[in-house]
Amino acid sequence: MRKLLIAGNWKMNNGPEETKQLLSGIKKQLEGQHLDVEVLVCPTFISLAAANESLRDQNQVQLGAQNMHFVDSGAYTGEISGIMLKESGCRYVILGHSERRQYFGETDEGVNTKALKALQVGLRPIICVGETLDERKSDSHFEVVSRQIKGAFKELPDTQLNEVVVAYEPVWAIGTGETATPDQAQEMHKFIRNELANLYNEQKAANIRILYGGSMKPDNAEELLSQPDVDGGLIGGASLKAQSFAAIISTAQTIASK
Ligand code: PEP
Repeated sequence: MRKLLIAGNWKMNNGPEETKQLLSGIKKQLEGQHLDVEVLVCPTFISLAAANESLRDQNQVQLGAQNMHFVDSGAYTGEISGIMLKESGCRYVILGHSERRQYFGETDEGVNTKALKALQVGLRPIICVGETLDERKSDSHFEVVSRQIKGAFKELPDTQLNEVVVAYEPVWAIGTGETATPDQAQEMHKFIRNELANLYNEQKAANIRILYGGSMKPDNAEELLSQPDVDGGLIGGASLKAQSFAAIISTAQTIASK
């Protein structure tokens, strides 16, 4: 059984003070609820300490980061390593987000190196894949996502696959208000699971969670999260408000308790 994961990607928003306020709002919204779903927030690096402090008194919301370096320490000015993230209370790390691919030259190979390191230091990588609008229009979306999956999973130890999460995020749906239809999402998620089955085997692929990301909001979360191969959401904009994030969590909880 795959446990739904609702993950907030805060991107470059919320310094330490705003982080404390938003987390206090999220905790208030979730107070007293029993959750069968996992909840995760990924603040910017500078706010991880404040977030870790704010989350100390509870066990409903976990902490993750938005990127990491692929070695433990050394002469890499401006970078942050996986062990440092672990020490700061992170359980997950987002890797290969399309904004990192687009603006910071992140490659499939780089994502793979980081994923290997993440697993080595005990972080769960959330590996992001997804096609651009041009790639979808030219009907090469399956080819693109296949290449990204094969690149990112190269030599990932099959004993640790349960720790790995994939996020399918069509680039044309990120921050645009445009969402993949539930059918489009399910079609690609199923394709990704088949690719993983080809790389490993069906049973192992069946255990890997595949999140959908791209303008998920309270009013479209139910139809997306109800798809059989959609195992949660990676949420940008709607994770920046306690109310909308909690509403998506509540939708996921209803689905999980059915
Ligand atoms: C994201 O950046 O991972 C994302 C899905 O953003 P949004 O929900 O704002 O489209």
